[in-house]
Amino acid sequence: MKYRSTTGASPEVTLEEAVIKGLAPDRGLYMPLSFPQLPREFIDALPDMSLQEIAVYVAQSLFGEDVDKEALKRLTEETMNFPIPLVKVKDNIYSLELFHGPTLAFKDVGARFMARLLGYFNRDNQDRVVNVLVATSGDTGSAVANGFLGVDGVRVFVLYPKGKVSKIQEAQFTTLGKNITALEVDGNFDDCQRLVKEAFMDSELNEKMMLTSANSINVARFLPQMFYYFHAYGQAVKAGVNPEEIVICVPSGNFGNITAGLIAKKMGLPVKRFIAANNANDIFFNYLNTGVYSPKASVSTIANAMDVGDPSNFARVLDLYDNSHEEIVKEISGATYSDDQISETLYSAVNSTGYTPDPHGAVGLRALEEGLKEDETGIFLETAHPAKFKDTVDVITKGDIEIPEKLRAFMNGEKKSIEMSRDFQDFKSFLLKSI
Ligand SMILES: *Cc1c(COP(=O)(O)O)cnc(C)c1O
Repeated sequence: MKYRSTTGASPEVTLEEAVIKGLAPDRGLYMPLSFPQLPREFIDALPDMSLQEIAVYVAQSLFGEDVDKEALKRLTEETMNFPIPLVKVKDNIYSLELFHGPTLAFKDVGARFMARLLGYFNRDNQDRVVNVLVATSGDTGSAVANGFLGVDGVRVFVLYPKGKVSKIQEAQFTTLGKNITALEVDGNFDDCQRLVKEAFMDSELNEKMMLTSANSINVARFLPQMFYYFHAYGQAVKAGVNPEEIVICVPSGNFGNITAGLIAKKMGLPVKRFIAANNANDIFFNYLNTGVYSPKASVSTIANAMDVGDPSNFARVLDLYDNSHEEIVKEISGATYSDDQISETLYSAVNSTGYTPDPHGAVGLRALEEGLKEDETGIFLETAHPAKFKDTVDVITKGDIEIPEKLRAFMNGEKKSIEMSRDFQDFKSFLLKSI
């Protein structure tokens, strides 16, 4: 399968080139040239298939031409070696728990897949060093750093906004060492994202070192997220949910996660419609209402992994619907919630259902509570474990949420990071010196 740029001004490339480049030279995002239609028999079989079986099937349909069959099966199964259960929260509302991986967030899926795929592409290229640049507001950095830790021929630079990620999150990418370098940027998440984007556009840097991105602009990061949408549907049908009335609600920041869901639907997954749930960063919500896209500076919220003022995958959403606002609003509705509303939802979930969502999941839960129509069943993607946001969650619930052992282990490591200004020239000279 070839990949094309959403901007259409640069040549089609192979999967390997798309993964290694990250962003297309014309600044567009890569998209598969076509979307294979999955047969009805596959959809009907979903309730009886395991997550690994589903993932291998979907991976073969998308990447089967580009990766050796056995290798693809192995790397997909290794990626998906933790469960993603669908848990009933209340009448007509389910949580898809994406937090059972190594860093307890959904980004483990894409990061693990991408790391393994890059390792596969490097197998015949022992001298090649690929430099992965990743901007993070918290969870991306930890998932990518852990996914890539120790992968031969790959170095990872994690850029994160100083003082704006939680201690637990920070520990997950600043304590690893080896091929992982953490850069503490004096700025916000948008500054980190801009530094990464400018690095990809800088011709001198690109001549001297091979750079790629592990943000959801990378096809190997966002496409594998499709696996669990199929699994969610299978589990819902198995639980007796009406297969024609399933609504999936995605707490969204950069819109990589929901884009994977939209593509799953294009390939044949019968989701009725999607809800993109936002915190106070309401850019997409406003776009749905007005048809006008106006990016703005991000604002800090308690669901900080979604504090994005210019969602990088918006171009993909537009592309999927041929830039038609009318088509987009037919399939996707939006919601936006303040910190007070998120807190209120989290508090009432714990007290009325016994289920503790994390602040991001709470945004999704609320959008379903307010947005489901009669007969519909909603699934919200529970994108991270609540203990990753312990400080916030404990204050809201007046509780003391237990930190899972996996997470606690990171807290024992020693923090190592390099301070960086938000000036591109500083970042560039740092990278050049690292060669
Ligand atoms: C990254 C992240 C999101 C947002 O996902 P996008 O793909 O950027 O829309 C939501 N919740 C959590 C916990 C995250 O880490």
